[in-house]
Amino acid sequence: LVHPELNPQAVARTYELDRRHVFHSWSAQAEITPMVITRAEGSYIWDGEGNRLLDFSSQLVNTNIGHQHPYVVEAIADQARTLATVAPQHANDQRSEAARLICERAPGELNRVFFTNGGADANEHAVRMARLTTGRPKVLSRYRSYHGGTQTAINLTGDPRRWPNDEGTSGVVHFFGPYLYRSHFDATTEEEECRRALAHLEQVIELEGPQTIAAILLEAVPGTAGIMPPPPGYLAGVRALCDQYGIVFIVDEVMTGFGRTGAWFVCDDEGVVPDLLTFAKGVNSGYVPLGGVVISDRIAEHFAHRPYPGGLTYSGHPLACAAAVAAITVMERDGIIDNARRIGTDVFGPELVRLAERHPSVGEVRGRGVFWAIELVTDQHTRRPVAPTGGSSPVMAEAVRASKELGLLPFTNSGRIHLVPPCTITESEAREGLHIIDQVLSRVDTLCG
Ligand code: PLP
Repeated sequence: LVHPELNPQAVARTYELDRRHVFHSWSAQAEITPMVITRAEGSYIWDGEGNRLLDFSSQLVNTNIGHQHPYVVEAIADQARTLATVAPQHANDQRSEAARLICERAPGELNRVFFTNGGADANEHAVRMARLTTGRPKVLSRYRSYHGGTQTAINLTGDPRRWPNDEGTSGVVHFFGPYLYRSHFDATTEEEECRRALAHLEQVIELEGPQTIAAILLEAVPGTAGIMPPPPGYLAGVRALCDQYGIVFIVDEVMTGFGRTGAWFVCDDEGVVPDLLTFAKGVNSGYVPLGGVVISDRIAEHFAHRPYPGGLTYSGHPLACAAAVAAITVMERDGIIDNARRIGTDVFGPELVRLAERHPSVGEVRGRGVFWAIELVTDQHTRRPVAPTGGSSPVMAEAVRASKELGLLPFTNSGRIHLVPPCTITESEAREGLHIIDQVLSRVDTLCG
């Protein structure tokens, strides 16, 4: 389905100017060929050649409400006409309302929001709050995680993107989290993996000195690192360790929040209440940059009569908050979270198991809601990944190329394909995507065989 208003000269100019003047994230600038996107709607985007692609990436796993949702687009336009910007020290109706909607969905007594521009700075501020309230310096986070690209957030990250940024790391300690498929604990069951992962974490706490640890920071479900839903009881177990040792528990729901897993928040779904919860992405589907920290009463109280030493010009920007109010309202009204859950249980879950049975290159499939990973291996017995952690390989490059050729924009990382479409995806779109992935896996089987 070719985009009817495609203007090849405009596309060529966009590309040429991009290559001349735009400096891209995480890239060797001379070695990339960015895809021009000219249009998007619902679950689809159109590339610079006019091809329609099913967006199984949700861009960077953020367009939970799909592309160009008219209700959200209108809310932003309305707000731009009413009050386009306001300084953070003033009160504003959209910010107040967005904070209420977020707090009502967050678990427990998390009743205040500090708004940021995105997920990395949300984690930076959560860590700052934890250090200030405890008076302790260290923060523990897991290997195989991503917490953002700013200095503390990238130091806390547990993937190779951290390595070139490791100078200036101060007080960050990494530990192993549960990951049964590649168990660090020689476990063979979820129960064993959970128990041993918690015992390992407790040892790290004891050996680092509990009195030196301000916080433990965890993604509710590690996302970019592999979509590894924690075994039952793991998050509750970390909560208990934090309580035992007076450590602040920060849960990063930047990628998992606002519907991705078929719930508003994973914490709520699991009955676990952190002290600080960070969010971004799905809060307004990234239509305008927004993130934040939802703060427990206990930590907020610490700053009742002592200034919080941090702020941003755009904290609680009215355009971003108007987009959040609209996105949350429409997600609730249209049952979008339930849709994500249903697509996970009725379509992705069972169909991916079938694909795994048919394709020798599939080592494991795992996930929930519209948040799934296919782990590709050269051999199911050795479980050797088709690409190294944080790297690519000819097999992965071919998987991406074949997906696009067949009409699907994939999200890939290391040796995995992630299925992360909008939460609004219909069953027939989900099946269309699976049909393409099936063909891509056949190609991968051939290359690995
Ligand atoms: N935390 C998690 C779990 C993420 O997935 C991301 C981004 O992918 C971030 C934090 C950083 O968010 P941002 O890119 O908005 O700074």
